Amino acid sequence: MPKGIKKCKVCGKEYEYCKSMITDPKMFRWQDVACCQEHGAIYLAQVMEARKKVATAETTKLATDGAESAPTKKRSRKKKADADEVVSDKEMA
Ligand SMILES: [Zn+2]
Repeated sequence: MPKGIKKCKVCGKEYEYCKSMITDPKMFRWQDVACCQEHGAIYLAQVMEARKKVATAETTKLATDGAESAPTKKRSRKKKADADEVVSDKEMA
């Protein structure tokens, strides 16, 4: 039988979980994580918040890595030269 006891990830309450309740596999199923729809929404919000933090941390790490390796790249030197030329042109005008 596709039935079992699950523990709510929000309040810790044990609840009966029935897989036959699933109708749309694309929909978020609060039954997978929480005892009620309200707690499911709270858990989903927490997951979204955690994912956002992870994504921000990864972006920050990538940006830091790029800054560290930039001075050794030819492209960044050329960019600096171009910028110097622009400044020179402005001074001449
Ligand atoms: Zn709950």
